[in-house]
Amino acid sequence: MNTPAYIGRFAPTPSGYLHFGSLVAALASYLDARAVNGRWLLRMEDLDPPREVPGAQSAILNTLERYGFAWDGEMVRQSSRHAEYAAQVDNLLERGLAYACVCSRKQLEGYQGIYPGFCREAGHPRANAAIRLRVAEQSYGFTDRVQGPYSQHLGREVGDFVIQRRDGLYAYQLGVVIDDAWQGVTDVVRGADLLDSTPRQLYLQQLLGLPQPRYLHVPLIIQPDGHKLGKSYRSPPLPADQATPLLIRALRTLGQPVPEGATYGQPQELLHWASQHWCSDLIPNQRTLAEAQLR
Ligand code: GLU
Repeated sequence: MNTPAYIGRFAPTPSGYLHFGSLVAALASYLDARAVNGRWLLRMEDLDPPREVPGAQSAILNTLERYGFAWDGEMVRQSSRHAEYAAQVDNLLERGLAYACVCSRKQLEGYQGIYPGFCREAGHPRANAAIRLRVAEQSYGFTDRVQGPYSQHLGREVGDFVIQRRDGLYAYQLGVVIDDAWQGVTDVVRGADLLDSTPRQLYLQQLLGLPQPRYLHVPLIIQPDGHKLGKSYRSPPLPADQATPLLIRALRTLGQPVPEGATYGQPQELLHWASQHWCSDLIPNQRTLAEAQLR
């Protein structure tokens, strides 16, 4: 068997264009893989067509190419993976680990997002219901390569969570766990906004008998007013003609060295240099970084 020791991935959601925060995450996952001659995969997390921005998928691919990122193999779209998600939802239902929930949004107001368990023992039929996973009354934790130890008590802090929505769409938590395992991902490198999703993912991995990857969460870039730099905030898309300067800025954000006089070079050359000088220990171990503080 010739299994690579390192398989990383970038997994954008096409609900918007790539912005500076996504560039920082893509760059970190790319360099962390290339620094050890690992593979780097691209997965389009297009699970939610109503929230998809028309043209975003091709814009994301164009931007990645313009910024010098080359992925291994064919890009995978989660929209082609529904049969696998459906099989695992069935599996969890059959084992009594998941159940149908008919609660309306209104009924759940006032519970701070922690499901109060109304449908837990109700035995509702599956049709027109959301599917929730029964969480364990225990903590799930891991040691992040940058952020250090992190854990959550799933019962108290998260509650039973949705793995398939009432409209039939599959939840991010389910798709990400199934696909990371299916693609053999050994190292998940992504933004710290997903730190608090990780315990749910560890729990799903345990229930589905899947291996647990290593995790590295890079600081989330926030606006001076505290807003997350993200799709919901309509962050400006990355300009195609600013690849090298913005990659340099992203490298500095990640605490990495930058070559002398690189400002006008080709992005591919910069990425190659950066992969040879990559040191994940230099990444600031903060959950957020304000954009204004960036050099
Ligand atoms: N698709 C997610 C996003 O764009 C990232 C998923 C992940 O890296 O686990 O926010």
